[in-house]
Amino acid sequence: MLKGKVAIITGSTSGIGLGIAKVLARQHADIVLNGFGDAKEIESIRAGIVRDHDVRVVYDGADMSNGEAVRGLVETTVRTLGRVDILVNNAGIQFTAPVEAFPPQKWDAILAINLSAAFHGIAAAVPRMKKQGWGRIINIASAHGLVGSTHKAAYVAAKHGLIGLTKVVGLETAGTGITANAVCPGWVLTPLVEKQIADIAANKQISLEDAKASLLGQKQPSQTFVTPEQLGGTVAFLCSPAADQITGTAIAVDGAWTAQ
Ligand code: NAD
Repeated sequence: MLKGKVAIITGSTSGIGLGIAKVLARQHADIVLNGFGDAKEIESIRAGIVRDHDVRVVYDGADMSNGEAVRGLVETTVRTLGRVDILVNNAGIQFTAPVEAFPPQKWDAILAINLSAAFHGIAAAVPRMKKQGWGRIINIASAHGLVGSTHKAAYVAAKHGLIGLTKVVGLETAGTGITANAVCPGWVLTPLVEKQIADIAANKQISLEDAKASLLGQKQPSQTFVTPEQLGGTVAFLCSPAADQITGTAIAVDGAWTAQ
């Protein structure tokens, strides 16, 4: 379905981003991987996707906390793969603390990576997409883009901001062949959440399994983690012709978390 299209997925060396990259590669899109990690592991992920799906896959380690580097990721992609059709703004970090104890540098880093990076990437990609008359911008927000939780001031602010940005870009690109949407996952079992589970286990002196159940129990009525593969499916749907008129919206994939 996506043969000949080029997809950038930020933060795709792990977790949700990697799941999305694999699903888009399965649909024959060429892939730009991005994110941090061990160089050998990243190369093995890259080569694995080439082997499994016979598409072009390049890795670019651009730091999403640096706006110029984000814009550079789009420019480098156009130079190396010839175009950019799909931009998935997925890179994200988390830090939890009560607002009065929230370290300012953590606030700045979360806003930069989880929100401003999407602005810079979109600004660089939209002119290319307009020329092509087709583009898909998909911002991986969160249930925390729709509702709040304690101790997550920066994350909740950034994710609500990302949904606001999605609406504006949806409006500004309406009728151009470009769509911009946010996907709002509930809990997904990735390194980002494993750290929170470990913290709960340590604080409450309970096992990791009990901590997982407690995390799901508090928020996610389905009591089941969303998977990176399912989120890849949501992104692939948004890239399909069936979604041509879905734009400027936020799609929850959250086991009914935000229905409450
Ligand atoms: P993860 O920690 O597994 O992956 C994060 C990715 O971002 C990694 O590839 C990491 O290297 C990359 N990254 C971090 N800082 C970066 C930087 N400065 N520059 C470039 N890459 C950077 O986390 P995840 O759970 O897969 O999260 C992916 C996205 O999904 C995030 O935006 C997160 O907020 C969102 N999300 C996650 C959950 C969840 O339950 N896991 C729920 C809702 C939303």
